[in-house]
Amino acid sequence: MKLLNQSWTRLTLVYRPKGTEVGMGFKETFWMACDSTEQLRAEYGPFHTRAEAETEARKLGFGYLLRYEHILGPNEEIEEVRCVFIELTDAASSPKTGVTFHTRCASCGESAAHEFSWQAEVWADIHEFEHSRHKVRLFEHAVGEGLREIGDWRGHAA
Ligand SMILES: [Zn+2]
Repeated sequence: MKLLNQSWTRLTLVYRPKGTEVGMGFKETFWMACDSTEQLRAEYGPFHTRAEAETEARKLGFGYLLRYEHILGPNEEIEEVRCVFIELTDAASSPKTGVTFHTRCASCGESAAHEFSWQAEVWADIHEFEHSRHKVRLFEHAVGEGLREIGDWRGHAA
């Protein structure tokens, strides 16, 4: 999966607990599958999770996800709408059979396993966001082949 660059930082916020308070209001997030980033596009949804939206987008042959954020006021009226497009790429789409992704922080040792590479990216992004100067390494584990480190996977300058 490729993230549109400017959306990366904001994207990670989705993975924080739902109903996060934003000042006096609340934030509500949902996902749509969509076929383009044009004004006149087909959208399908909404979905509560990115995984659901992504699954549906692939079924429909849509190439994008759209994440909507509603900032709700005290009376649950929508005060602000933010949306971010995320481009789906084939590389990350279908998990290769028997391949899982493992992230491990080189600084503190915290680790996790993921089914999709984008989940590894999100995990690493949140971890590095919450712990400054930690560096997460990514490993691909294939059945019969063992663990292989994917170097420079997030464009870190070595
Ligand atoms: Zn760490």
